[in-house]
Amino acid sequence: MVQIDKVNKSYGGTQVLFDIDLEVSQGETVCIIGPSGSGKSTLLRCVNYLEEINSGQIWVDHDLVGYRVAGGRLHELRENEACKQRVDIGMVFQNFNLFPHMTAIDNITLGPILAKRISKANARKAAQELLNRVGLGGKEHHYPSQLSGGQQQRVAIARALAMEPKVMLFDEPTSALDPELVGEVLAVMKDLAQSGSTTMLVVTHEIGFAREVADRVVFMDAGRIVEVGSPSELLDTPKEERTRAFLSAVL
Ligand code: ATP
Ligand code: MG
Repeated sequence: MVQIDKVNKSYGGTQVLFDIDLEVSQGETVCIIGPSGSGKSTLLRCVNYLEEINSGQIWVDHDLVGYRVAGGRLHELRENEACKQRVDIGMVFQNFNLFPHMTAIDNITLGPILAKRISKANARKAAQELLNRVGLGGKEHHYPSQLSGGQQQRVAIARALAMEPKVMLFDEPTSALDPELVGEVLAVMKDLAQSGSTTMLVVTHEIGFAREVADRVVFMDAGRIVEVGSPSELLDTPKEERTRAFLSAVL
């Protein structure tokens, strides 16, 4: 579903991703862990075409998201193709990013109505079902400021799902939450992962979540993928010294 081939990315003169190779299958949940500044967010942003890559290729469901021919000039994707890609990819950020002046249900229906041209009635019906699914039935007319952080993040997940994306990207979706609100968001994500139909790429500091929910765990350090494995391989019997050092610092 997602194929990342030899991706390199620099900001100005500073290279932050080095030869990243990663394949994520349909329905798979892959968690990415690693120290601050290791390039986890940058990698997700490249997949979502929020950043241009300097070389390599990224495919989402056989569509090219971004590529450069080595040594050649950038092959620009036309802007409408980039927009189409973003429709196919749902992203949930650390800071919820809901529209503050819109109710929960309007936040969820905006994309489907504008980008997918779904009727308002059908969009609201689907949004209602999604709100029920994330445990927020009854909150449809609340504004973000009237919801807790955990509730806002669950609205953000419902909003991304409303676009029926092929892939869901999560960038530390619980790290801005008070500890007692983390569990309710992880529970929604676990439910989604275990439904089996959603392909998920999750950057997280929640090692327990990765252990329980991920099909595979990726450890990144200094812009490189150091090690990939099943949760027990990577978390219990890491091969690389750098992985061991990171885990012993966070566990
Ligand atoms: P964290 O766990 O703190 O979120 P991360 O693994 O997500 O870290 P990135 O945000 O991807 O790390 O950053 C990777 C590197 O790229 C860092 O050195 C960072 O300073 C740099 N970087 C990120 N965004 C930009 C930008 N827009 N311009 C310049 N440098 C950037
Ligand atoms: Mg980050």
